[in-house]
Amino acid sequence: MSSNAGRPEGTSRGANRSPVADGRDESGARMRGAEPNPPIPDAPAPTRHPAGVQDHEPAHPLARETSVRLARRAEVGLLALVAVDLLLLATGTDSVALAAAGLVLAALLGATLSVERRMVDRTVARSAANEASMTRMLRGLSRSTSVDATIDAIVDDLREASGADHVVVARLRPAERIVEATLVSSSAGVPLSTVRFPASDLEPADALSVRATDRDRRTVGLFARIEREAHAGEREPQPAAQDQPAAPAESESAARPGSTLYAVERIADRVSRSYGLRHVLAEPLVAGGQVVGALLLSRRTDSGWPEETRILLRSAAQDLSAALERAYAHEEARIRAATDALTGIPNRAYFEDLADMLGRGRRANDSLGVLMLDIDHFKAVNDRYGHEAGDDVLRALGRVLRMTVRADDVPARYGGEEFVVVLRRATPETALEIAERLRRAVRRIDTGPLGIGGPVTVSIGVSVGTGSARSLLSRADAALYEAKRRGRDRVEVG
Ligand code: GH3
Ligand code: MG
Ligand code: MG
Repeated sequence: MSSNAGRPEGTSRGANRSPVADGRDESGARMRGAEPNPPIPDAPAPTRHPAGVQDHEPAHPLARETSVRLARRAEVGLLALVAVDLLLLATGTDSVALAAAGLVLAALLGATLSVERRMVDRTVARSAANEASMTRMLRGLSRSTSVDATIDAIVDDLREASGADHVVVARLRPAERIVEATLVSSSAGVPLSTVRFPASDLEPADALSVRATDRDRRTVGLFARIEREAHAGEREPQPAAQDQPAAPAESESAARPGSTLYAVERIADRVSRSYGLRHVLAEPLVAGGQVVGALLLSRRTDSGWPEETRILLRSAAQDLSAALERAYAHEEARIRAATDALTGIPNRAYFEDLADMLGRGRRANDSLGVLMLDIDHFKAVNDRYGHEAGDDVLRALGRVLRMTVRADDVPARYGGEEFVVVLRRATPETALEIAERLRRAVRRIDTGPLGIGGPVTVSIGVSVGTGSARSLLSRADAALYEAKRRGRDRVEVG
């Protein structure tokens, strides 16, 4: 059993960035701040109540009021019991009947008290969850309007209030179609840890393509919770050394394939396997009417999840969904700004950003390839067949680029009828091969339906090296000029 001694202290909680934002760091760059009374990392964390709810003293005004009502009922019940006993004694009924009558009444009284008690607990938990939700929102607003800060606040509060050993936010990154799952531990000093896997890794591969209908959403809000036993030792959850795709679930799911619950089960299953989580409770994250992830709680011990934790989780998942909705809207706007409207491929602004990024993040001997393409005699196409036909040719070229380059390569419209392709980890041979493949694919475009007689051709300049993307671009441009000079519809290496 490890202790907290010697664990590095981290940044203050207020300064923490969102676990989701921090997710870039696979090893979990930030350490959680030490808490005033840090729990022993491997021991079950004490069950904590939502804000304002103490163990024996119902601090919430609603709870206090209901407790008074309860006490009155108990008094009335006991008085009734005594009265019946006296009546039975006075009428001379034998003692067995008397005892039986007393027992029945006591049982009725007990049942009433127990039902009442549960109702009180639920009401208190719901009201505390609402309060916590409001506090989170206000805190998120006051700290910063950033989505990441709000997500950070939600996860922190949920971790504290739920008594869970771990909170995991699993969210889809729509542009990359990657699910990113970030685990936050209750133990002080334990770093965040993130695993990423392609959304297609989920079983079935389209599990995340689920529209959360209003009906579905309501159902999920009320009932869709998953408790499952996973298999793990008593260690801090770590991503499996070799993060494996999920094996098929051990037990058949009762959820309907294509339903929100089913999607959440798939995510929870995959994430639990990656981290070796046990006793998992999960709620869906929904944005844009689509299931975009899941919020998970896990515990090491099987002491059951109290209703108040379920309510807290549901409320946190709804808040998180609202924050993600904003994040995705932002992301959508960002993608729109980086996409060429005519061809649907990245535009020049995106290319410039990419060039900067590659300049900063590349290792010295990482080789990069740049192709520069230009449509041959395109002015003549416009002049002869009209601007609309010219636009159709540009669209067709965009499709060819998307389909011909490798998954890691990035095509972009550089401007007018000029395009670039950035080839990551390219050798001169692969760059030349891809350029030739592209040239032939453009020549094969069926121009008949576009009203154009004859093929469209491109000239391509190629450069490969370890220099900056911009220096490679100017070499590719020079090679393109050479390809034009030598007769067009050809590839030249610079
Ligand atoms: P070269 O083989 O030397 O490249 O000849 P070219 O005619 O392709 O080159 P030039 O630079 O003379 O002409 C480029 C043409 O591309 C001129 C312009 O009207 C056309 N163009 C640029 N952007 C668009 C566009 O968005 N749509 C259409 N339809 N045409 C465009
Ligand atoms: Mg040109
Ligand atoms: Mg041209």
